Amino acid sequence: MSDPNPVRPNPFTIAQRQLDDAAAIMKLDPAIHELLRWPLRELHVTLPVKMDDGTTKVFHGFRIQYNDARGPTKGGIRFHIGETVDTVRALAAWMTWKVAVMDIPLGGAKGGIICNPKAMSPGEIERLSRAYIRQVARMIGLEKDVPAPDVYTTPQIMAWMMDEFSMMQGYNEFGVITGKPLALGGSQGRGDATARGGVYCLREAQNVLGINLKGATQAIQGYGNAGTFAHKLGAEILGLKTVAVSDSKGGIYTPDGLDYEKVLEHKKKTGSVVGFPGTKPVSNKELLELDVTVLTPAALDGEITAENAPRVKAKLIAELANGPTTPEADAILQKAGSYVIPDFLCNAGGVTVSYFEMVQNAYDYYWDEERVQRRLDKKMTTAFHAVHETARKYKINNRMGAYIVAVSRVAEAVRLRGWA
Ligand code: NAD
Repeated sequence: MSDPNPVRPNPFTIAQRQLDDAAAIMKLDPAIHELLRWPLRELHVTLPVKMDDGTTKVFHGFRIQYNDARGPTKGGIRFHIGETVDTVRALAAWMTWKVAVMDIPLGGAKGGIICNPKAMSPGEIERLSRAYIRQVARMIGLEKDVPAPDVYTTPQIMAWMMDEFSMMQGYNEFGVITGKPLALGGSQGRGDATARGGVYCLREAQNVLGINLKGATQAIQGYGNAGTFAHKLGAEILGLKTVAVSDSKGGIYTPDGLDYEKVLEHKKKTGSVVGFPGTKPVSNKELLELDVTVLTPAALDGEITAENAPRVKAKLIAELANGPTTPEADAILQKAGSYVIPDFLCNAGGVTVSYFEMVQNAYDYYWDEERVQRRLDKKMTTAFHAVHETARKYKINNRMGAYIVAVSRVAEAVRLRGWA
């Protein structure tokens, strides 16, 4: 498969290589291994959308169901100008491993539309969202595949998508999509769930490593949903001092630590963290190499590579982004003794609360925030220790530990169903 973007490593090639490495360690049945290297189903859609100026623009999108052996598939929809089919394939694979490592009875999927939402009006985004749902309606649904938000998609977009699907069915189907606003069957605690899950992992990491993160420094790449809440909850739950954050326009650094409320207010006002008073500018590349205890990549894939990994100084890496570290970089970080909390464990809080949202929609009975957080904590803590123990048992890194936990569960379902 050719690399769609020669600058960034092909994420699907990476996802397949990671699976291959895990399969070798766990001596996975060759037929099951081959089955798990590929998505089961893909839909490529073409979407004509009326723009505000009266012209029609044609967009392209995908919905990919990677594996549903353990239950209906689940995975976010991304709106991104750099979206590629291989990115969506990789993310669908990682969703499969993510729900399995969390022991949630679902499979993995992902969707994406190639578009630049920053250059579109709310009306254009709504029409694009509805057009996408009309095309993928044939393969989604409560018992088939349940989408959710991801990069540049919001609760409002989820509401439009749920509405379009419900209109097509002729009745309300709130459970077709998660990450909805509270007024339309959303769950308490979904907003900060991804970062919260990552912070719970950091708390457990400090326990198994015998370190204290109170007052320790953190750098966060990406200041969207995952990144902002990693800043807030890192301080609230662990006492972390965030000294650097960045977004697509650049980054800021101050050894004194950044105030969450003030940085967020500055970003809301100016559209970026850049230029926040009292800070030094840092590039996104420099941020990754800062001398901090915790590095939290919370933007895009392929950011920590063989080229910059030797200069990464953080002892703990909490991968809130999907696929931020290439396999070559992984090996370098492992040698250097960094403790990496791998993406599909670290950022699994979002899908876990999305699963809670599905359960609440099915029962039409809603939990309070405290119950959501308690159940999330239990799920994250259990998954963290399963991964940590597996990594120790096989003397491998946490990513391979997470793969072995997840792939064993999917492989068992495949075997029991008689697929291989
Ligand atoms: P978001 O759209 O809310 O925010 C993305 C942020 O990244 C923005 O601040 C943007 O400016 C920044 N960014 C974009 N390109 C960048 C670059 N080249 N360098 C630095 N920053 C850049 O997205 P999000 O929901 O916070 O997702 C971030 C990452 O977390 C993604 O990899 C996503 O797949 C992953 N993730 C998110 C969730 C969730 O529930 N939100 C769940 C699991 C995984």
